[in-house]
Amino acid sequence: MTDAPRDDRTGPVVVLAGGTGGARLARGMLDVVGADLVVVANTGDDVEMYGAYVCPDPDLCAFWLADRIDERGWGLEGDTFCVMQGLRDLGVDVWFNLGDRDLAIGLRRAERLAAGARLTDALAELTAALGVRARVLPMCDRPVRTRVRARGRWTPFQEFMIRDRAEGPVEDLAFDGIEQAVAPPEVLEAIAAARAVIVGPSNPVISIDPILGVPGIRAALRDTAAPVVAVSPVVAGEVVKGPTAAFMAWAGRTLDAAGVADHYRGLLRGLVTDEAAPALDLPVLRTDTLMTDAAARERLARETLTFALGLTA
Ligand code: GDP
Repeated sequence: MTDAPRDDRTGPVVVLAGGTGGARLARGMLDVVGADLVVVANTGDDVEMYGAYVCPDPDLCAFWLADRIDERGWGLEGDTFCVMQGLRDLGVDVWFNLGDRDLAIGLRRAERLAAGARLTDALAELTAALGVRARVLPMCDRPVRTRVRARGRWTPFQEFMIRDRAEGPVEDLAFDGIEQAVAPPEVLEAIAAARAVIVGPSNPVISIDPILGVPGIRAALRDTAAPVVAVSPVVAGEVVKGPTAAFMAWAGRTLDAAGVADHYRGLLRGLVTDEAAPALDLPVLRTDTLMTDAAARERLARETLTFALGLTA
């Protein structure tokens, strides 16, 4: 490789992620730094369903890192849906679909949490079982639950996304439990020791803000010597997938690099975007940011890390 990131610094590369853009970049970063990768994933989307404790974003990151993500973009490749069909046969209104093996993961996690395990440890067991070399850490061990108000009604996040088809405009947003949340020591240690911190191209408002809202995380990002760099989730002026536009509009941000930089004001040392001439007062790496395949994921991760390391004071 001609353009390998300078590797005279040690320490993990931390990627903050939701379950789609951030998870894809994390998969690319795994090719670049291997076991030095630490993903800190949003847990505001977590939900208890069918007796299972479901962590969509951390699990999607783990499935991506294990090369087990299904092509539909969620769940395990080749999973079956017999339990969901069984529930439907019993007359249950199954609006939240979970594959059989996915359900097994959530049931096992519920059991481990009920026995007193931390979510951090339950996730470590999952990544070990999947053979993932990198770490996937939850932003906190206590429950935080995202709720959305739209059309005058507050709705838990998954219901908003699936039942209400994420129909905006978004009127308000809450991260219940965030004030009481505590960042796991593993997260703070990884950020403090990091070589670089990359804010993945995830939804800034509902995937990254909960992570930044956990007491202690924002301060850790300010205090670390590592450069903090974000990859914009806006590609060719549009959102690749999901309701990022509705949430950026609610937050009063423009749907472009400037809006993303505004949103992360005070946090970033640089921004990666495909925009030709963004008017920003921070260093920019302009490159193709669409991760269509493994090569594109690896290239974007490598370029982003090289850019970040070049910004170190
Ligand atoms: P969620 O938890 O499933 O909502 O996923 P994220 O918050 O991690 O990701 C949603 C964001 O990922 C959207 O804003 C997309 O525009 C962005 N995204 C998805 N694929 C790509 C990609 O290939 N490149 C970039 N730059 N962003 C992407």
